[in-house]
Amino acid sequence: MSQKIVLATSNKGKAKEFNQLLANTGIEIVLQSEFNIISPEETGTTFVENAIIKAREASRVSGLPAIADDSGIEVDYLNGFPGVKSARYSGEHATDEANLQKLLHELKGVPKEQRTARYWCVLVLMRHYNDPTPIICQKHWNGEILCEKRGTNGFGYDPIFLIPILGKTAAEIEPELKNRLSHRGQALNDLLPILLKLYTQKD
Ligand code: IMP
Repeated sequence: MSQKIVLATSNKGKAKEFNQLLANTGIEIVLQSEFNIISPEETGTTFVENAIIKAREASRVSGLPAIADDSGIEVDYLNGFPGVKSARYSGEHATDEANLQKLLHELKGVPKEQRTARYWCVLVLMRHYNDPTPIICQKHWNGEILCEKRGTNGFGYDPIFLIPILGKTAAEIEPELKNRLSHRGQALNDLLPILLKLYTQKD
């Protein structure tokens, strides 16, 4: 029998990525929009809190286990900002470009050594909506914020996010490589064996 898990996002790309990883395992990822779940307000000050809020609501409404992710960029010079505000850095309905330009502006004149940053991704699995011990996979990806954009792949802050060991931005590498190295790829890798153990083994 297959196990359905609801993904607390309306992003079809994220669901596709999960379903590819879980192909032939008997685990099926369904989008929360199939249950008419409306994303709750993200009132937390940490990625973990926001991911739990989203997963709990998706599990409550669907009656299924739920996975949520929350991600963003932490810039050391800005004491961790934009952090949980990454998607709305320059305003409530901000575009990726406006957010990126705001970050460049805030770091204007800041020397290279002080431009360190990292992407974070937190994945939370709530086995049921009252789960007192949600499973949390939290991974980061180190980088540096450039002074101007390079590359056209990816999204968000990728064109100004330099991966020092590659000498390339996250927008200059192929999606397959990004998926392997990134905060999200690493967090997914951590969660995968846990999902398999919980939902595909008999004992
Ligand atoms: P979320 O959808 O609430 O998790 O918001 C994530 C926000 O963080 C995005 O809108 C981007 O601004 C930023 N972000 C997270 N991961 C990435 C990435 O891999 N590349 C570029 N920006 C990212």
